Amino acid sequence: MTDNLKLVAIFAHPDDEAFGTGGTLTKYAHEGVDVHLIMATRGEAGQLANPAITPTHPFSLLREQELRRACEVYGLKQLHLLGYGDGQTAMVPPSEAVYKIVRLLRDIKPQIVLSFGPEGVYGHYDHLVVHRWASASVRLAAETERWPELGAAHHVAKFYHRAMPQSQVDNMQERLGYNSVPMDGIPFPFTGYPIEQITTIVDVRAWADKKAQAIRCHASQIGPDNPILQEDFDPTANDWFWKETFILAQSHGLLDGYFIDDKECDLFAGVRV
Ligand SMILES: [Zn+2]
Repeated sequence: MTDNLKLVAIFAHPDDEAFGTGGTLTKYAHEGVDVHLIMATRGEAGQLANPAITPTHPFSLLREQELRRACEVYGLKQLHLLGYGDGQTAMVPPSEAVYKIVRLLRDIKPQIVLSFGPEGVYGHYDHLVVHRWASASVRLAAETERWPELGAAHHVAKFYHRAMPQSQVDNMQERLGYNSVPMDGIPFPFTGYPIEQITTIVDVRAWADKKAQAIRCHASQIGPDNPILQEDFDPTANDWFWKETFILAQSHGLLDGYFIDDKECDLFAGVRV
């Protein structure tokens, strides 16, 4: 039963949604959930990772087009671009960005919101800012007295952080020989969480091909050596690819008797009737 089930993902740059949550977005969209994506920037500060691509548009437009193609693969209901400058989100007055996101949350009325955790996966400044915007927006959307002109207060039932288990970070080091992302020449390491802190593991094996297809849409961001581009890459062969992991950071008004026993496998657990 997916009537009226809605999910909103909030990220910073085109492709943030792809690697850790692309399977989850696809799975729910194809199961009939209305899936929305709020993206803070167009990612115009990203590096061109594939020298075979010659951009014929401004980089912001190229990345927006890549994102729109990926959204078609996910089967999203709607993409909402906030239009802030890549790398500049810390300069945006939080009241402005949070106002926009609260408006969207009250319009869409999602049961589930997912975004970055406080570590921002690898500490990109825009990720840290978007985590704070998303957290504040989920909280303030539920406050009746706050911005009544934006519509009735809305309680999000479950707010999730995308979270990598430490084993995945270790596995990356083993497979690729690195576990960090360079920014301005400085390597920023991925943050892994102990598996005990991961509350939720979504099995997206059935959607792994589409997840790989969506990642490939972000062609400007993928170096030719990336394993996902190789012909022999099997999206269903590696659990680091088809297990998407989250921490349930906040919950409200779940069904009576609902509790997490070991790990959840469904973001809508406790919400579906
Ligand atoms: Zn990013």
